[in-house]
Amino acid sequence: MEGGNAKAHAVLLSSPGLGHLIPVLELGKLLVTVNNFKVTIFVVSFLPSAAESQVLQSFVSPELCEVIRLPPANISDLVDADAAVVTRIAVLMREIRPALSSAISGLKYPPTVLIVDFFGTESLGFADDFKIPKFVFIPTHAWCLALTIYLPRLDEVVKGEYVDEKEALFIPGCRPVQPEDVVDPMMCRSDQQYAEYVHLGMNILMADGILVNTWEELEPETLASLRENKLLGRISKVPIYPVGPIIRPIGAVDHSCKKLLFDWLDKQPSESVLFVSFGSGGMVSNEQMRELAWGLELSRQRFIWVVRTPAVKSGDGSFFTFDSGSSNDILSYLPEGFMGRTQNLGLVVSDWAPQVEILSHPSVGGFLTHCGWNSTLESIMNGVPMIAWPLYAEQKMNATMLAEELRIAVREKILPSKGIVGREEIKMLVKRIMVDDEGLAMKARVKELKLSAERAWSRNGSSLKALAQAMR
Ligand code: UDP
Repeated sequence: MEGGNAKAHAVLLSSPGLGHLIPVLELGKLLVTVNNFKVTIFVVSFLPSAAESQVLQSFVSPELCEVIRLPPANISDLVDADAAVVTRIAVLMREIRPALSSAISGLKYPPTVLIVDFFGTESLGFADDFKIPKFVFIPTHAWCLALTIYLPRLDEVVKGEYVDEKEALFIPGCRPVQPEDVVDPMMCRSDQQYAEYVHLGMNILMADGILVNTWEELEPETLASLRENKLLGRISKVPIYPVGPIIRPIGAVDHSCKKLLFDWLDKQPSESVLFVSFGSGGMVSNEQMRELAWGLELSRQRFIWVVRTPAVKSGDGSFFTFDSGSSNDILSYLPEGFMGRTQNLGLVVSDWAPQVEILSHPSVGGFLTHCGWNSTLESIMNGVPMIAWPLYAEQKMNATMLAEELRIAVREKILPSKGIVGREEIKMLVKRIMVDDEGLAMKARVKELKLSAERAWSRNGSSLKALAQAMR
């Protein structure tokens, strides 16, 4: 796989969810533009959504990468209707293997490297059929990778539920993980998604290399511990390549969006607007939505809020678990008179907004985010400090990293997934990042991080070199 060899052909596999698809597409683009590879990307989804189609349309030009959507596999006989999201993804990723295998075999150009993302490790074996190298791409950070790889060991030594542990979970050479911060599949050990996740922790090590969406200078200790084999030999021989940050670049916005959002943003003072969004599928309860609305209003700060139909349960940090009987009228969930009272202060957008473009606008000065790793990186790359509002997946770890280690975010006293954050607290959080000196100091730190990330991708930068090394 010579970097300059146009015949090198990378085949990438993305698992469901925009948080996976977006960085995989961007990695594919980099392999074309930086490494001069031919790239084919296989996309797996449960049911292709409008947002997914939009992302695919706007992100990839056919001359750049070939994108092939695998037909959705029917898993309804294999999982319970209420099965956890990691169970559903793991089962789906197993079921698509025959279709993937025949699709790879039918490719016009034989692959020279296979790269699967986090949940695609059960397809790594296809690389052996072609006698080509195989990589796993971790779309999140090295700390989460370390926890995942170390989980089979924790599974042996920790007896009860992780969330009931009195002390933080020790991972050699890494920042410990607080019991309440563990990734969702570790919350209940009798749930099938836990077994799936342990299995994943083992499978990752079958790769010839692991690409991680972080950069050397962001997580030097964790990366060193992964490389120095401190994780009890679990990662020996598998090189780690920090190739991030890989994020979606700023794109064009459509005319209606420009009129609604960007004409308004253009009129606001520099760094005065708080962007509020919970990622591609995050939701809060109706009670929490109302407190959030009140908190924004009481803060008297400008905002753009992407509002979504509320989650079913109170305090539920859920991912796509809305009540099918709920109203489509987003405004009906907001406090009476909210829109009128905040008409000169902010905008409410239903469901989806062009996040990268908003975060990059000079009027935006803060981001209330569910801390998905893509959203986190997008915020850093635009020099925007955050209010961390973690909901699901590894977001609680992300929030801890942002607030305690990097100190570029403030966070609530209780976890939003465990209870309701009240309006007064929300008002204070907004003021802390938008008005107070604390926010200014965070802005300065996040801008330093942005520079460090840019250096990682500059000439001779660590991520550029890591990708070149991995694809050598
Ligand atoms: N996103 C967006 N508009 C929205 C919501 C999300 O463009 O209204 C994009 C966002 O910019 C990010 C991705 O969707 O690139 C969400 O990924 P993330 O890892 O932050 O969270 P997830 O949705 O996977 O929980």
